[in-house]
Amino acid sequence: MTWSNGFAKVAVFVTAWLASFAHAEWFSRTNDGIMGTRIVVELWSDDATQANGAIDAVMEEMQRIDRDMSTYKPDSEVSRVNDNAAKGPMEISPELFDLLTTALEYSRITEGAFDITYASVGYMYDFRAHKKPTEEQIEAALPAVNYRHVILDPAKHTVFFSQPGVRIDLGGIGKGHAVDRGIAILQARGIEHALVTAGGDSRIIGDRFGKPWIVAIRHPDDKERVIAKIPLVDTAISTSGDYERYFDEDGVRYHHIIDPRTGHSASKVRSATVLASTATRTDGLSKTAFVLGADEAIRIYNGLDDVDAILVTPDGRVLYTKGLEPAAPPPGAPAQGGAGAPPDTPAGTGAPTAP
Ligand code: ADP
Ligand code: MG
Repeated sequence: MTWSNGFAKVAVFVTAWLASFAHAEWFSRTNDGIMGTRIVVELWSDDATQANGAIDAVMEEMQRIDRDMSTYKPDSEVSRVNDNAAKGPMEISPELFDLLTTALEYSRITEGAFDITYASVGYMYDFRAHKKPTEEQIEAALPAVNYRHVILDPAKHTVFFSQPGVRIDLGGIGKGHAVDRGIAILQARGIEHALVTAGGDSRIIGDRFGKPWIVAIRHPDDKERVIAKIPLVDTAISTSGDYERYFDEDGVRYHHIIDPRTGHSASKVRSATVLASTATRTDGLSKTAFVLGADEAIRIYNGLDDVDAILVTPDGRVLYTKGLEPAAPPPGAPAQGGAGAPPDTPAGTGAPTAP
């Protein structure tokens, strides 16, 4: 009897375990109305209520960050900083203070290529309306572009612009920050397998059906064409491209990544994909090669232990940092490469941004 009772218990346990397994599934939601970009949350859960609640919480957090940090919203904290920080030190929220501190760190790492004060000139561009500043306007505004004009006081939690005319914009780091906040929310709710994407910035936790997530990097001129596929687990990935938000005029491409030294679009590469542990970091570092060029950017990335990158140059070459260099095929083997193949997971491909 004891035995059969025990057996029954084990059978019940196994059945319950199998049932819970059978009900676990991927939950996925896409929202095109936040931060001017596409947000995707995908997670593995055996509880639909928990899964949908977690996705709601991530979407709400993205909306909050947009409200606080968008320069398109005149009442956002960042807009208030732009209106007031040149008049004197201004106290800001711990979240914004920390993000500005990180942004200035990335300016130093990238030797000034990443610079949130690009906006002192950048605000005069409107890529959707095909609008750009004149050379005179750029020249007049350019002295205000320099991350060293942003003075942070950690004791008082204040920001101060040391010159008039300085504007900041977090468009080059805010989505990465939002993705990291989204992942933190999922982790706090016990989710162990998930993807959060905001435009070109994504982060993955765990694996997918016991295998790595496969992220495809698109060709700059053809979104259906894949130039590389990378297997990823527990990683962040950002892709920046000159095909995201742009207009062409007289044979020149005007696009949304600005060289802080010239105030013009930075065109030394066509796309840059950066891998690291957080999306704030990959977002902040993915603009570097556009401004400095592929060789300088690879030198900087190779000097950072936790960062890898894949760059596409204007003449169509694909360059890798040392951690990603594809192994040479054995003699006589067919060429590798997924060109023409559809992406498995179109995250990190610089998915559609402008609404
Ligand atoms: P996405 O907005 O799709 O995440 P990126 O990560 O490539 O695209 O970021 C591009 C944005 O970065 C621009 O729209 C602009 O807001 C901002 N930006 C442009 N040039 C610079 C720069 N030199 N340094 C920092 N941010 C920049
Ligand atoms: Mg980005």
